[in-house]
Amino acid sequence: MKNKQNRYFSNPSFAAIENRRQFRYARGFIWTYWSVIGAHFLAQLFAFLFLPYEAAANYFYLHILFNPTLLMCGITAVAHSFLVKAERFSFPSIFVAGTLISMVIVHLNMDIRIIAAVMLLPIFASTLFFRLSLTWFTAALQVVGFSVLFRWDIGFRSFMSDFDLIAIVLFFALSTVAASFIIVSGRDLVIDLEAAMIAQQQLLVEKTVMSQRSKTDALTNLYNHMSFHDFYDKAIEFADRGAPFHLALIDIDNFKSINDTFGHRVGDTILATVARVIKDRISPADIASRYGGEEFALLLFEQSFEEAYALVDGIRAELAESYHPELDGRAVTVSVGIKSYSNAFTKEKLFEDVDALLYEAKRAGKNKVASEALTV
Ligand code: GH3
Ligand code: MG
Ligand code: MG
Repeated sequence: MKNKQNRYFSNPSFAAIENRRQFRYARGFIWTYWSVIGAHFLAQLFAFLFLPYEAAANYFYLHILFNPTLLMCGITAVAHSFLVKAERFSFPSIFVAGTLISMVIVHLNMDIRIIAAVMLLPIFASTLFFRLSLTWFTAALQVVGFSVLFRWDIGFRSFMSDFDLIAIVLFFALSTVAASFIIVSGRDLVIDLEAAMIAQQQLLVEKTVMSQRSKTDALTNLYNHMSFHDFYDKAIEFADRGAPFHLALIDIDNFKSINDTFGHRVGDTILATVARVIKDRISPADIASRYGGEEFALLLFEQSFEEAYALVDGIRAELAESYHPELDGRAVTVSVGIKSYSNAFTKEKLFEDVDALLYEAKRAGKNKVASEALTV
């Protein structure tokens, strides 16, 4: 179900963020009321003590200072308890409280000519919640509040000229229209921002998928020739800083004859099978790529040469011993060349050496692993 407090976000996590923001603002309002009451108390006291003031001390303390302050504190306390205990009614109660506090302040300061303008503040403050209904409700409250003061507060009315009355009514109307425009434009902004954010997220996902696609080979799901070279460069960089690695080249034996005898489709299946065996045996730190047609290049990290040798020999043995139904039981064998990197080599030199080892393994009868020992 759509959250009733928030209709502007289609994305639920944005709506949740916005609801939290609004609740924070609602709390801020209550604390503002407490501060306004405190400031008003001090201002009145200051005016009485240090400025020419007409009222008698008794009257001032009772009817201007303590009673109205207590009344405003009571109103704020009620709104505060709504915020804590009945969140659903917290927004209207905040604005009812704001209106009542404005009325008390207007009543106490009726001799200040523009004091009724205080009642415009709740209308503008309501825009922070981005809800037209709340702003119109607040505007209606101000009209009611002002009418009550005008009708029953004879003192207040006596300070009002006809011109003031017309001006104030006009101010209420214009403020409500302005506040509504602020809300509508804010809402449009929010909708545009949300759309832009969602588009950006989708773009990021697409980019990730695309870059994954451009780095791997579709048939075997191994890294392709190009990304192998990127990893190879990185491996050399890390090795020069002390993290050794081993390079292995694996070539399927007599693959052309598999293609010729069983067809290209079967050849493809065998390529995928060899790739799966390689992937199953390497560790997550290692990099396996399809370097060319039926040739694979492996970068093996975090292991000794003996372990790396055992790993590639395991791949060779597993393939040689497996039964392949598509080949009528004929074995698939691979030849392998493997050598460790030493910083005495260039990138090209190591690759040439391993290629030469692979050639040695082929010459020695295939289905073999050739390592440094064979060439020296
Ligand atoms: P050797 O034991 O000396 O490696 O002989 P070979 O037949 O494996 O090597 P050769 O280089 O003569 O042949 C490789 C064959 O691999 C030729 C090519 O048609 C085939 N090939 C390359 N890429 C693919 C592919 O993606 N799918 C299939 N089915 N065959 C491929
Ligand atoms: Mg081959
Ligand atoms: Mg080959």
